[in-house]
Amino acid sequence: MTATVQKNPLLIGQGLPPFQEIQPEQIEPGIQELLQNLATELETLEQTVEPTWAGLVEPLTQIEERLTWSWSIIGHLMGVKNSPELRAAYEAVQPGLVQFANQLGQSQPLYAAFKQIRAGALWDQLTAAQQRIVEAAIRDAELSGVGLEGETKERFNQIQQELAELSTKFSNHVLDATKAFQLVLKTPEDIEGLPKSLLGLAAQAAKGAGHEAATAANGPWVITLDYPSYVPFLQHSRRRDLREQVYRAFISRAASGDLDNQPIIERTLELRQQVADILGYDTYADLSMARKMAPSVAAVEQLMEELRSASYEAATRELEELTAFARDRGFTAELKQWDVPFWSERMREELYGLNDEELRPYFPLPQVLDGLFALAKRLFGVTITPADGEAPVWHPDVRYFQVAGETGEAIAHFYLDPYSRPAEKRGGAWMDDCVNRGKVKEQVRLPVAYLVCNQSPPVDGKPSLMNFREVETLFHEFGHGLQHMLTTVDYAGAAGINNVEWDAVELPSQFMENWCYHRETLLKLARHYETSEPLPEDLYQKILAARNFMTGSAILRQVSFGWLDIELHHRYQPGGDETIWEVRDRLAKTTTVMKPLPEDAFLCAFGHIFAGGYAAGYYSYFWAEVLSADAFAAFEEAGLEDDTAITETGQRFRNTVLALGGSQHPMEVFKSFRGREPSTQALLRHRGLASAA
Ligand SMILES: [Zn+2]
Repeated sequence: MTATVQKNPLLIGQGLPPFQEIQPEQIEPGIQELLQNLATELETLEQTVEPTWAGLVEPLTQIEERLTWSWSIIGHLMGVKNSPELRAAYEAVQPGLVQFANQLGQSQPLYAAFKQIRAGALWDQLTAAQQRIVEAAIRDAELSGVGLEGETKERFNQIQQELAELSTKFSNHVLDATKAFQLVLKTPEDIEGLPKSLLGLAAQAAKGAGHEAATAANGPWVITLDYPSYVPFLQHSRRRDLREQVYRAFISRAASGDLDNQPIIERTLELRQQVADILGYDTYADLSMARKMAPSVAAVEQLMEELRSASYEAATRELEELTAFARDRGFTAELKQWDVPFWSERMREELYGLNDEELRPYFPLPQVLDGLFALAKRLFGVTITPADGEAPVWHPDVRYFQVAGETGEAIAHFYLDPYSRPAEKRGGAWMDDCVNRGKVKEQVRLPVAYLVCNQSPPVDGKPSLMNFREVETLFHEFGHGLQHMLTTVDYAGAAGINNVEWDAVELPSQFMENWCYHRETLLKLARHYETSEPLPEDLYQKILAARNFMTGSAILRQVSFGWLDIELHHRYQPGGDETIWEVRDRLAKTTTVMKPLPEDAFLCAFGHIFAGGYAAGYYSYFWAEVLSADAFAAFEEAGLEDDTAITETGQRFRNTVLALGGSQHPMEVFKSFRGREPSTQALLRHRGLASAA
């Protein structure tokens, strides 16, 4: 027999990824071959392109989809099955990929063809979804500088290059500054109040730092500025002096010496303003809004002011109550920043007595899934059944499910990778698309989603017992998954979450979280895994009550971050009279109850806006929460105990928010669900901040 040349599985280009056959060593040759082929196809398309849907968008979509099919498998494996070999292969092919993506995004002939479509006689014959895809393509090309010529274009590309370098430097500085600090604890007095889980983590950190004999019971223990170490230390350490030391180190990260991010911030803001100037926007914040649901900076500021004024008094009162609580327990000093987390945690424990371990036995994963799927059936009429074995998986714990419509026909599938696997899996939880819905040669291709969580794995023959936050997280990711899977849009470019504005994308996910607090839903899924006893009423009440603990302070804090982000990208003048710290202090007067310390340099570690995608977009968190809270309020108004009303409202939610995806502006989608524009009232009410009016 002659050996046949096996096709590289990364080049199949369609269908479910054959996970069992994929090896890291296939990545470099596979991606190189793919990029060569696609580059040739792109050149051909640029020469033959016609300003029509069939002559431009369809062939372009094919190129894009083949690229994402291969690349997203690698991206997915980086998240769930990481290894040194995989990482090396990823890094080796990434530059070529970025270059091709730029070539695609900045193609002059394709841009010109898109503009001809918009200006041509056929424009009116396109559907609204098609028009929105064309508009988005034109906008994205323009924002990546396609319309620029000569020196301006060169300058623009230089700026982009420098901004990318600054962003990498910024996050490396934060990383290095975070690593540079450690507090070594040696005596029982040093660790007073610290919970076992933190001692375990701190002993592990000590081992990593060279104290090889460190144990959780006997130390030494190393506290670091990483969140899982820093946050519980401030919440639990009874040593006020050590809390102060750790807090001060935290707020001065990357603010001096070799790792000083301040010049990077100033340069970044200056360059971003130049980008805005070149592209014809007044400010970088205005430019950011071009891709957002929020119509203008003024609209964002109006929302922030509304949330600020609603939460300021509550936050002031919460701080007073906290001070009184601490006084009653013998604390006589002035309450400082490093005391707030400690006393809040004491107060939370005393008021609600909620602890994770007590709740876990009521939330075994299989039963939580049953409850979640029953809810999906009730709200949206879909039936979810296991389909394990019908799709290749990357780990034996991964499940596969089918989603069927009212008549029993399959409409989508999803993978669920539920458990934490620290050795190879990234932390956090996310939904990603595996296959997009789309019409290919008159055949509808059904969507497939990845749902990835990091919850407690099964131990000692027990099922995975979830804490409440893990249940909420599963609902959240399932909400993203619903928007991807229940879309009815047949153009891949606007199906599911594709082409949905950044500040609207968290609507379905945050919406689903609300159901975790809904009595009937929760009591249905929360049963003791051994006795089948339902969740006791007092525990349910504690969950409800704890939801709004110190909520005013939490909202005000988010508003202060969001507002500072906008102000720095909108009114701040690089090199002008006011420094970034003066801007911070000016805003702090109205957005913080406890004024920041003079040496507080948190901006130097604010990676979301200087090294992430949130520049002039941090507000997106609460913008989407307005939408999700108001959407849930539609169900409350219909009557949460009224089955018919819930089903009707659920169908409407499915037919609008979940079905339309990126095919319409999110404001139009929201209005077709709610019958009006969104209001902040529901958010304020859910958070316990509604005014009496
Ligand atoms: Zn999300």
